[in-house]
Amino acid sequence: MPPTPFSDLAELCATLEATTKQKEKTRLLAAFLRRLEPGEIAPAVLLIVGFIFPEFDPRTLEVGWRTMRRVLEGGRQTTLTEEPLTILRVHRTLEEIAEASGPGSRRLKEGLLEGLISRAGPREAEVLVRIIFGEMRIGVSEGVMMEGIAEAAGAAPSLVRRALMLTGDLGEVARTALTEGEEGLRRVGVRMFVPLKPMLAAMAYDIGEVIEVHGGRTAFEYKFDGARIQIHRRGDRVRVYSRRLSDVTESLPDIVDLVLRRISSDDVILEGEAVAIGEGGRPLPFQDLMRRFTRVHDVAEMAERIPLRLHLFDVLYLDRRLLIDEPYEERWRLLEAVSPGDLLAERIVTGDPAEAEVFLRRAIEAGHEGLMAKRLDSRYTPGLRGKRWFKIKPAETLDLVIVAADWGYGRRTGWLSNYHLAARDGDEFRVIGKTFKGLTDEEFEWMTRRLQGLKVRETPQTVYVRPEVVVEVAFNEIQRSPHYRSGFALRFARVTRIRRDKGPGDADTLDRVRELYEKQFRYKARMA
Ligand code: AMP
Repeated sequence: MPPTPFSDLAELCATLEATTKQKEKTRLLAAFLRRLEPGEIAPAVLLIVGFIFPEFDPRTLEVGWRTMRRVLEGGRQTTLTEEPLTILRVHRTLEEIAEASGPGSRRLKEGLLEGLISRAGPREAEVLVRIIFGEMRIGVSEGVMMEGIAEAAGAAPSLVRRALMLTGDLGEVARTALTEGEEGLRRVGVRMFVPLKPMLAAMAYDIGEVIEVHGGRTAFEYKFDGARIQIHRRGDRVRVYSRRLSDVTESLPDIVDLVLRRISSDDVILEGEAVAIGEGGRPLPFQDLMRRFTRVHDVAEMAERIPLRLHLFDVLYLDRRLLIDEPYEERWRLLEAVSPGDLLAERIVTGDPAEAEVFLRRAIEAGHEGLMAKRLDSRYTPGLRGKRWFKIKPAETLDLVIVAADWGYGRRTGWLSNYHLAARDGDEFRVIGKTFKGLTDEEFEWMTRRLQGLKVRETPQTVYVRPEVVVEVAFNEIQRSPHYRSGFALRFARVTRIRRDKGPGDADTLDRVRELYEKQFRYKARMA
């Protein structure tokens, strides 16, 4: 069979976008997948869900919007002799773009991109742009794709889901399903040194409610203010993976050493949180921890300056046995059996909200974020967010003034959607962060109109406005910023409410920001 043209995939995407019925989407996907050559299956599946690489793959394209615009403006110059784009060619070229590095790589990336766009029809170009900017949005989630794969292969959806949980690689799972059927899917096991997707938690604000949802009794653990790691050990070989599934082993020799010395099993996958420790054994802010995780030179010296503490909270595999279908309580029991107590997460099991409140205070006073609540009989569901795990943290908010906004692209084209947030400083307003998170489509529209009415000047990307609109902004942490003149930056800012009831004079001040920043150190250490 000749290779499948990329235009077929683009057409499928357009049809899928126009289809609202789940069943119809599944049918369309299945019919398409069945037509593909084995080698085309994985790339096609990834591209349709809007990915280029599986999630654990660290490669990224690093193509900016500006570059893209330049290329798009260059336009289409197809000559009749040129071969049409194929799915494989597109995927291969995107890989080449990601792999281009070092001097001259920008030119190279741009050239490769030009090559693609100039050979693409309008529909193909549109799909390419969406894929490149992670804005596919044709209503084909991983879940819908899994249904499509199951139908195409005549396999049970549960087997497809299980294989995906274990490998984290949708494309590979599709290839296995279509070429080896249910039998092939059953053969998929945990692969040592291939990280599983981490189980995620839903947000909760009320401890009593959490206990109720968990059936009257639940396990509370500290929610450590650190970075999640998954540790694979077989024999003397240890690898450590980040939450995003990238291999961070080289930056964490102290963790490797700890696992070799103190964990009693040599065939195990553990999960836990690594926390950077400062004076008095108190956790350092996340910013300092990240310096450990990104370090590849002089690692030993850095390990000495910023020591880590490990808090283990799960075991996913032990002595040839996958444990994700075991209940949490049983996994905890096994974890206790392989790990010394001082490496385990602080935890209590209770049905008493008052006891849990006391435990929450202790977590905060120890410099951590809050609590996790874990249902005692729950399985470990990689990659899924649900009510089996809750995260509970007291959120901080600030009322801030919007002083400028950037035009959105992709789905937010036409809206002023990235807001520059400022705190009051005497008569001035000082930016301490930006966010495009938290608003509904209607609110984006309202905000765009409102801000244009307040415009004082503009550049092609940004509209600067009179400071009038106040928004309530939640965030996880205040960091020191060399970038903003205010000296501070919010981490994970998101708008929680538009405060139409407030004027700029009611906004929080930079002094308040400074005060909250300092307060973070009541229970945290500072870098020397
Ligand atoms: P989220 O990733 O937003 O679902 O929030 C959960 C995150 O909290 C995890 O990714 C971990 O990095 C972190 N965390 C801290 N302490 C724990 C704990 N005891 N159990 C699970 N996750 C924890």
